[in-house]
Amino acid sequence: MILQAAALSVLLCCVHTYTLWAPFEKTEESSGNTIEDETLSVSELLERANVDVGKNFDEPMVMFGDIAVPTGLQNADPCTARGCLWPKATDGNVYVPYRISNQYSQRERQTIVRGLRSFAASTCIRFTPLNRQSDFVDIQSRSGCFSFVGRRGRSQVLSLSRQGCVFKQIIQHELLHALGFDHEQTRSDRDQHVRILLQNVMPGTESNFRRIRTRNLGTPYDYNSVMHYDRFAFSRNRQPTIIPIPDSNVAIGRATQMSPTDILRVNRLYGCNSTASRPHLKPVQRKHFLEK
Ligand SMILES: [Zn+2]
Repeated sequence: MILQAAALSVLLCCVHTYTLWAPFEKTEESSGNTIEDETLSVSELLERANVDVGKNFDEPMVMFGDIAVPTGLQNADPCTARGCLWPKATDGNVYVPYRISNQYSQRERQTIVRGLRSFAASTCIRFTPLNRQSDFVDIQSRSGCFSFVGRRGRSQVLSLSRQGCVFKQIIQHELLHALGFDHEQTRSDRDQHVRILLQNVMPGTESNFRRIRTRNLGTPYDYNSVMHYDRFAFSRNRQPTIIPIPDSNVAIGRATQMSPTDILRVNRLYGCNSTASRPHLKPVQRKHFLEK
């Protein structure tokens, strides 16, 4: 474990020196996505796409399904109180530079750009093409879908494999990790809203269900969050691993895009002072969440 951590820290110190892979000689049709995939839940897509994740030595350790971890087992969302937020510009927007690998087809690239731009419609997050900034999100097709949580400094890989990750809900999910968010079912208050059935969880994947001391920003637990896994996530026996309580029949983890609460959280975490494009959401003062 110590050796593993040491090797990992060496690997991760060099993340910013990664060079982009040569483009695959694949056509759009061979990327493996089908219309049916568009309706799958985030966790179904993640589980399917991440079968081989972490097996390549040159990739960061991936835990909790799709979260890349720099060292040890620390939770990430609390990092937002310690400086892993992306900085706010004087105009009130939060500019997050990105680079998209040339591995993608034009259509895949368009889908990714649409996902990046979707944040501008309802939040003050502005993903913008890299222009000499030092910290940026480096979007590449690696072996699965994964992201670090929050801003890590320098280049940080956000993997959207061409084989199963280039979907709006996955793109938004991974970008929300990069902005500092954890999975909904790991929220600090999750035991009041879901029951975790560890006896049905695939051995070795229990960490997906660990509770985290998240900052919940005064928002309610949200079964429709794009960050919520579905009830059969990481099941070893086709029995549920997550059951909503008290009503076990409520649908969970079926989001195909960010929920209004996901959007509200971004606005609260980043102190976006205008929610003009989501008029049904109340404006929130920055002071409000700093006190949490
Ligand atoms: Zn995730």
